Amino acid sequence: MDWNGRRVLVTGAGKGIGRATAVMLARRGAKVVALSRSADDLAGLAAEIACETISADLAEIGAIEAAVRPALPVDLLVNCAGTTTLQSFVTSDLAEFNRVMNVNSVAPMVLSQIVVRDWLARGIKGAIVNVSSDAARRGVVNHTAYCASKAALDAMTRVMAAELGPSGIRVNCVNPTVTLTPMGELAWSDPAKADPVKARIPLGRFLDPDEVAEAILFLLSDGASMVNGVSLPVDGGLAVS
Ligand code: NAP
Repeated sequence: MDWNGRRVLVTGAGKGIGRATAVMLARRGAKVVALSRSADDLAGLAAEIACETISADLAEIGAIEAAVRPALPVDLLVNCAGTTTLQSFVTSDLAEFNRVMNVNSVAPMVLSQIVVRDWLARGIKGAIVNVSSDAARRGVVNHTAYCASKAALDAMTRVMAAELGPSGIRVNCVNPTVTLTPMGELAWSDPAKADPVKARIPLGRFLDPDEVAEAILFLLSDGASMVNGVSLPVDGGLAVS
């Protein structure tokens, strides 16, 4: 894939998987537009890869269009920003549930609509990668909102692939298992919790963010020109164990 001149919008680019993706894209020649919440993270990233930056809170659904429109046109989109909350099903708070759904499912939908409408108007055959999770197909205790939001993202990805494929636009998901980002370290630093999960992963370890970024770049690239609508496990074989 020749990334030179390709303009890629990456959300959640301030930390973790989104940051690793932005850095990898920039090092391979792409022009990155990095969207995240913390201005300090974006300033640090811009100093490293000379990207454009957008500081916005994707939980504010009504503000997404105004934040993103000045950055158009882009050629490719990575919806990576995500959040979680720890609540059991029975005690789940509706406001928290809606916040997680907004960031993980509704914001990718609205942002993709804005970008895809622009592509359709200009006849661009773009590609979108949505960063979902292994949790999309599991019932992880105390993760009602997270599991529901990622399952919704997978389902929406399939519909997008079916509707947009005829216009030459591809839409796919990556579904990583535990990845050692700030979010991952926070949730999985206790060996008592982590070790039994690692033991079920045939490759025996958690992921480095770059390993997810490589899968994202593949799905964005022309090398995946006939890959459309998939939820790609990036999990060391957990899905088959
Ligand atoms: P992370 O280390 O917490 O980084 C998330 C990034 O997204 C941060 O830069 C954060 O900015 C940004 N972000 C979060 N909420 C936002 C909002 N409302 N508006 C704008 N930006 C926002 O997370 P990560 O582990 O890299 O996760 C990235 C994606 O991978 C998520 O969708 C997550 O669900 C998915 N995933 C992660 C794992 C894992 O184990 N880490 C596994 C499977 C899937 P601030 O810090 O400024 O809020």
